[in-house]
Amino acid sequence: MSRLDSFIRRLTAQKTLLEDVAERVKSVEGPVLELGLGNGRTYDHIREILDDREIFVFDRDLACHPSCIPDGDHMIFGEIRDTLAFCGPRIGEPAAFIHCDLGSGDPTTDLATSSWLSPLVDQHTKPGGYVLSGLALDLGNFDELPKPEGIRPGRYHLYKKH
Ligand code: SAM
Repeated sequence: MSRLDSFIRRLTAQKTLLEDVAERVKSVEGPVLELGLGNGRTYDHIREILDDREIFVFDRDLACHPSCIPDGDHMIFGEIRDTLAFCGPRIGEPAAFIHCDLGSGDPTTDLATSSWLSPLVDQHTKPGGYVLSGLALDLGNFDELPKPEGIRPGRYHLYKKH
C-alpha cells in the first residue's frame, strides 16, 4: 500500500470513528478534550459534529490552520503530561469524551507516551465516557469497544469507562 493510500485510510478511519463516538456520547454530559491539535483537522471536525460541547484542546505548539485556532480559554499549551495532570480546575468536570492523537510513529516513544497518558486519561474521563486513541492505552476501568466496520484492527482504540 502506498503512503498516500495509508494516509487516506488513516483519515477516513479517524472521521468514521469520531462520528461514531459523537453519536454514542450524546447521552453523556460533559466537555470534550482534544489531545494533539496539530493541523486542527480533527478539532475542526469534532466542533462541527459536537457543536453543543465545550472542547478543550491540548498541544505544546500552535501550528494549525488559522481557521482552527481555539479561543484562549480552551487552548491549553504545554506538555500534555503536565497540563492534563493539572487541568481539572480549568475544565471543571471530567470529560465525556477524550480524543488522543499523539502517535509519533516511533514505537518506543509511543510506548512511553501510552504509559504516562493512560492514568491521566482515566483520571479525567467520567463514568460512561469515551476515549478514542491512536495509541493503545492501559485502561483498567474501561472496556475496549468493537469498532465500526471497515476499520483495520489495531489502527485505533475505542474505550468506554465503566
Ligand atoms: N489531531 C491533529 C489533526 O487532525 O490535525 C493531528 C495531531 S498530530 C498527529 C500530534 C500533535 O500532538 C502535534 O501537534 C504535537 O505537537 C502534539 N503533541 C505530541 N505529543 C505531545 C505532548 N507530549 N505534549 C504536547 N503536545 C504533544
